[in-house]
Amino acid sequence: MKFDLGIIGGGPAGYTAAFQARKSGKTVVLFEKDLIGGVCLNRGCIPTKTILHSAEIFEEMKNSASLGIEASDVKIDFEKVMARKDEVVSKIRKNLELALKNSGAIIVKEFAQIVDSKTIKAAGEIYECEKIICAIGSEPAIPAEFRHDGKFILSSDDILNLKTLPKSIVIAGSGAIGTEWARILSSFTVDVTVVEAAERLLPSADFEVSKRLERIFKTKKIKFHTSTMIQNIEIAKTPAPADNNSESGKPLADEKSESPILRVKLSSGETLQTDIVLFAAGRKPLEHKKIDGVKYIGDVSGKIQLAHFAIKQALFESGDIQFCESLIPSVIYGCPEISWVGKREQDLEAGSFQKSVYLVSALGKSHCDNCTDGFIKILSRNGLIIGAHIISKEASALIQQIIIAMQNNIPVEKLKEVCFAHPTYSEGIFECLCNLK
Ligand SMILES: Cc1cc2nc3c(=O)[nH]c(=O)nc-3n(C[C@H](O)[C@H](O)[C@H](O)COP(=O)(O)OP(=O)(O)OC[C@H]3O[C@@H](n4cnc5c(N)ncnc54)[C@H](O)[C@@H]3O)c2cc1C
Repeated sequence: MKFDLGIIGGGPAGYTAAFQARKSGKTVVLFEKDLIGGVCLNRGCIPTKTILHSAEIFEEMKNSASLGIEASDVKIDFEKVMARKDEVVSKIRKNLELALKNSGAIIVKEFAQIVDSKTIKAAGEIYECEKIICAIGSEPAIPAEFRHDGKFILSSDDILNLKTLPKSIVIAGSGAIGTEWARILSSFTVDVTVVEAAERLLPSADFEVSKRLERIFKTKKIKFHTSTMIQNIEIAKTPAPADNNSESGKPLADEKSESPILRVKLSSGETLQTDIVLFAAGRKPLEHKKIDGVKYIGDVSGKIQLAHFAIKQALFESGDIQFCESLIPSVIYGCPEISWVGKREQDLEAGSFQKSVYLVSALGKSHCDNCTDGFIKILSRNGLIIGAHIISKEASALIQQIIIAMQNNIPVEKLKEVCFAHPTYSEGIFECLCNLK
């Protein structure tokens, strides 16, 4: 069988490349060994944000009395939360599969191998392709010594299959995945402890964002240890005696139950007791041989592991658009959202930039919404924005305004001429810009 384009991997990188190639009339075969939509749709972005929505509603309902809404006896039906997550994912997947079929791309649901730069082999068949795109993605990276078992020691894939909420969890890593799960589970009243090897939470963020996240974690009673590594995890049948040095005062597991208890030894010498451990400390590109002439896009490219980056790479590969690799937004979901783009303050030489910080609590809309926590921080040089860091409700949307300005070199002075609607969080962008020249 002959095709203009052969794509291995049906995640955001692969399916975007397929749609684009079909738009320009190319014949396309796409191989997917598991589920169309890849990690993003089936085990990443979409399922986590769906569960997060339930967690946020639960927390809002518990705290709604101050808004004049008495919601008594608010309970979590975790089975339903997870069933809804499955429904959302499967609905989107069906639509995506249908759209791919309608586009005229041939979908082969098989494991595929690249033989050479023009040949793919799958289920014993040979596919000759003028061009090959490899978009096989990444997988969780859990150090072998921690004996990942999917039951007590979990990856970000396993946690999506939880049947019941644990009483307690230790999360290794405070990047996007670790922080989002810490927020989800603490909203569901799980006792959460985050262990981060770097000296700050969310180490890839601007240092002031990390500091504010520490405050948010404290308010939400999410415990955390920075500059700390997990050294060892022991699965024990019974809890440690009462004088153990676990930091949690309350019982973490039912002593009468048969459920084992995990003892997590930290590099600080402390031992934590917990029901489960989630490893959220990194993902690695799926193993592959680099073959000359084949294009590697998305997570497997080993660059930025984000769905929107994968999509942009696919569009670029199709020859349709240019994009700027240094203007890829990062977003951490939960309440309040966190987003950033461009330079961080710690990357810049003192005196080489201007900085403006505007508190979200100064915005009328934040009081209307009872979401006053956060700030908008913009860094500029020579009248142009070089970085922005936002903690706020709607931060995921706000950051786009900044990216549009940065990508088009719109000067700060010109941006100030834009009329921002009232009352909105966007007004915070305007107010922040007003302190810059
Ligand atoms: C918990 C979690 C939350 C996330 N949240 C976000 C978020 O909010 N925003 C964001 O931008 N990103 C998020 N990500 C990252 C995002 O999911 C990835 O960056 C994105 O899925 C990468 O897309 P991809 O197409 O490169 O690879 P993938 O989505 O991994 O797709 C690769 C596909 O290739 C298939 N495949 C692999 N090998 C073969 C083979 N030999 N033959 C056939 N098929 C094969 C796989 O089965 C898979 O379906 C999250 C990730 C996780 C784990």
